[in-house]
Amino acid sequence: MAEAFVILTSEIQAKSPAISFINSNKGKPLLVADDYTFKLNKAATTTKYWICTIKDCAAKVHTDSNNGLMKTVGNHSHLPGKEKLEVREAREKMTYLKKNFLTVKIST
Ligand SMILES: [Zn+2]
Repeated sequence: MAEAFVILTSEIQAKSPAISFINSNKGKPLLVADDYTFKLNKAATTTKYWICTIKDCAAKVHTDSNNGLMKTVGNHSHLPGKEKLEVREAREKMTYLKKNFLTVKIST
């Protein structure tokens, strides 16, 4: 699984990463990175901590207070696209935030 994540990350870097922010139908903020969806877990002064919406998945994303991607942490325990329909619907109105950097910490 770690190996697959590395390949995926390389693809993201090659394409220049895009993350977007949507609101769930319950009004909660969601972060979408590739086809993975994260929910806001905690917001500190300078950093927002997002966790994967899939239960028991260890993957996390940190963004700064301006929703700029800082880093991703951990590996997904599942394939992307579980919520593809919801994501696709959201993409109609989403804003891409492109960043020139992406640092990834892979825990094995
Ligand atoms: Zn996940």
